[in-house]
Amino acid sequence: MPVEVRLSDLIRLGVATADEAEGSVKKLAKRLTKEGIIVSYRQGTEFFMLSQKANRDCIFMNSDTRLCTVYEKRPDTCRQFPAIGPRPGYCPGYSK
Ligand code: SF4
Repeated sequence: MPVEVRLSDLIRLGVATADEAEGSVKKLAKRLTKEGIIVSYRQGTEFFMLSQKANRDCIFMNSDTRLCTVYEKRPDTCRQFPAIGPRPGYCPGYSK
């Protein structure tokens, strides 16, 4: 599922700097899009959509281990899952 992140997440992930965040967010979004880190930025908001691999995995997921490669720095959306999301309380890892 696509992951929506904020500027603070991008800074924690190390893909953006605090200086960039204080400057032009549009310019930052353009760079991150070019580098394949995000696919979109909702102008006027602080929300960015992380890119996905061809199989729709998150770009930060290790395809072999199926583990997060940025776990300690993962976005707030991931930290709050499954409390917040399209199906609050539902975790596919526990479904049968
Ligand atoms: S926990 Fe890691 S791999 Fe999973 S969606 Fe978040 S950043 Fe991507």
